Amino acid sequence: MQTVKLGSSSLVSSRLAYGCWRSAGTWNPSEVAAEGEAAGVRGIIAAYEAGYTLFDNADIYCRGVCEQILGRALREVAGMRERVLVATKCGIRLAGEPQPEAPKRYDFSGQYIVRACEGSLRRLGIETIDLYMLHRPDYLADPHEIAGAFVQLYDAGKVRCFGVSNFRPSLVSALQAACPLPLVVNQVEISLARLNCFTDGTLDQCLEKGITPQAWSPLGGGLLADGTNQRSLTPVPPHAEGLVAALDSVAGKYGVSRSVIALAWLLKHPSRIMPIIGSTNPQRIQEVVAADRLELSREEWYQLLIAARGTELP
Ligand code: NAP
Repeated sequence: MQTVKLGSSSLVSSRLAYGCWRSAGTWNPSEVAAEGEAAGVRGIIAAYEAGYTLFDNADIYCRGVCEQILGRALREVAGMRERVLVATKCGIRLAGEPQPEAPKRYDFSGQYIVRACEGSLRRLGIETIDLYMLHRPDYLADPHEIAGAFVQLYDAGKVRCFGVSNFRPSLVSALQAACPLPLVVNQVEISLARLNCFTDGTLDQCLEKGITPQAWSPLGGGLLADGTNQRSLTPVPPHAEGLVAALDSVAGKYGVSRSVIALAWLLKHPSRIMPIIGSTNPQRIQEVVAADRLELSREEWYQLLIAARGTELP
């Protein structure tokens, strides 16, 4: 696979990243079965063998189980840890933790960020996280306090570089102004089913500052793909039927699946969007790599944009 640098850092990743959100096969840790865990490990190894070199995770994915599954894969495959980048996130605290009455909330306090990072390192079974991200903006975020935690983790050798997720551009700027370490990634929802980042300044800021935009749910969580759809955070867009038909029409021309076209559409953007593939099916994980070799024309790109908007451009 072709490679791309993470923002202004020296870290290099495959153009497609692999996401471990679905690796446990369930969101409830008490439901995780040995076979489900083994399937998660198989998906991760399939991605590694297909050339993916960045693995995205978060402390809340199945309440830590997905980090453990990635850790298991890293131990099972000799040399894998040295060849891949491990990314994970913190900052979302689930309801009922630690006290039963605690609501779901966001927490970017310095103390919590450091503690959460140490928990992720333990579950992953590694000494350093390559990319550590803040998962969703904390309404009470204090950029100077966050910067202090980042510097502490960096100086301790626990994190190599930092990023954010679901951040609006103004909050990225506020945090960067306070932080001596560069923010190299903003991981946001981008797909033909979710076009906001093209017009709300997110991708403009990535272009201006050299931040790598990572696209979560690049296939709309399965809405734009050919197979099953376990769970999607993406609301079904109003023009989904026309969009799928437009994807199929372009896919037919190239002899690939509509998933490959939906990913090639993201890859064409000059901000160097890095789609994070979430399939747990080894065959699909391998198949969509074809997007890396497919260059859509401007006409095809706009044809799909118009189908996604459901209306002509002004
Ligand atoms: P996605 O690639 O848009 O959707 C994956 C889903 O589509 C899976 O359920 C998969 O099912 C299904 N699918 C059906 N046909 C497929 C095909 N031909 N090719 C590929 N997938 C197909 O991505 P996602 O899983 O929603 O999200 C990807 C990653 O983004 C996550 O793993 C996570 O790392 C990250 N994420 C981040 C945030 C955030 O807030 N930062 C939020 C959500 C996700 P099968 O498994 O059966 O193939």
